[in-house]
Amino acid sequence: MQTIAFDVGSIRRDFPVLDQIVDGKPLVYLDSAASSQKPTQVIEAISRYYLRDHANVHRGVHELARRATEAYENSRARVARWLNATDAHEVVWTRGTSEALNLVAFSLGEGLGPGDEIVVSEMEHHSNLVPWQLLARRKGARLRLASLTDDGRLDLGHLASLLGARTRVVSLAHVSNALGTINPVSGIGALVRERSDAVFILDGAQGAPHLPIDVQALGCDFYAFSGHKMCGPTGIGGLWGRKALLEEMPPYQGGGEMIERVYRDYSTWAEVPHKFEAGTPNIAGAVGLAAAVDYLEAVGLDAIHEHEMSLTRRALALLSEVEGLRILGPAEVEARAGVLPFVIEGTSAQDVATILDAQGIAVRAGHHCAQLVVDRYGVTATCRASFYLYNSDEEVDRLAAGVRTASEVLLC
Ligand code: PMP
Repeated sequence: MQTIAFDVGSIRRDFPVLDQIVDGKPLVYLDSAASSQKPTQVIEAISRYYLRDHANVHRGVHELARRATEAYENSRARVARWLNATDAHEVVWTRGTSEALNLVAFSLGEGLGPGDEIVVSEMEHHSNLVPWQLLARRKGARLRLASLTDDGRLDLGHLASLLGARTRVVSLAHVSNALGTINPVSGIGALVRERSDAVFILDGAQGAPHLPIDVQALGCDFYAFSGHKMCGPTGIGGLWGRKALLEEMPPYQGGGEMIERVYRDYSTWAEVPHKFEAGTPNIAGAVGLAAAVDYLEAVGLDAIHEHEMSLTRRALALLSEVEGLRILGPAEVEARAGVLPFVIEGTSAQDVATILDAQGIAVRAGHHCAQLVVDRYGVTATCRASFYLYNSDEEVDRLAAGVRTASEVLLC
């Protein structure tokens, strides 16, 4: 794979959506943690697929069915290489991170019972909390939550104290969408293995788009991710899982594609990963996600991370000068991704976001599907600016100027 020199100007030309005027001001898109924009290369890959190759996969013998199946399975192999999986069959396509985590909670969860313990943390997105609450209810298992430190990190001492012989599942965010914290997941994986026989799951929704991922080095058993946050289309994502575990797990949904043989009162299952892919899949989505992986790897995930750290460093310095502004999450740039949640004390996050919108600056305000996080830090909502490879220093400067204006307007 040829790596291209990191140049924000040329990267931005790959994202036509960024080049537009909103309310008379050039758009500044700082909401990539919610969903990223898509480069022309991804849009064209999807369009080429529909223009030439589309048919249903796996069942047909005709030319288009063959091409569609090849495109779909080659995309799986591409995603597996990106994750450094040992086998392409360890990648299950899902609609995204939420479905991937629900799949594991439902299917792996079938083996849990009363007395078993599931460990998550107060940092989790609702997608990595509610499925475990549902499972705990269904099976009479106990859900335990690791607490957070005042500076927005996992309290590793508390987490360690929750692990033991009863722990069956540990499921944690790789990177927090509400704090920006990058969790030290390899070390946590070692701790989980040392203290328990639990299965270790990572919610990679905010990790996969921004950091080089090597599932073998991370030491996890499952890794969930969403295409739309990493320059790919919506409605596609995946679950990487260790093959031995996937093979033991029962199906998650029934239907076509996932069976080997159907009898009157029972069925046998297709091989992994097809056992987990009932129904006609999102073929164009898989093609688009593989094109997104090609794009991100050509730019280089190390370079993308470096760039985001540089934007975050600049934003932390500029925003710390704004009166009444409080930033959530670790103070050290090295411990955080390009996700910057902040509040201006005495103002509503919604009002700040609305004032920024009037200046063409798109940020998100709310609890960011992590209500336990805002509860923990004593606020009801935060404003969240999130950076990606296509954001520039000038955009960070516009954010800082906009936040200063919001502070002046709202605190006067
Ligand atoms: N986990 C985290 C940390 C997230 O940021 C998100 C998306 N905001 C999700 C899970 C859910 O992802 P999706 O909506 O793509 O399923």
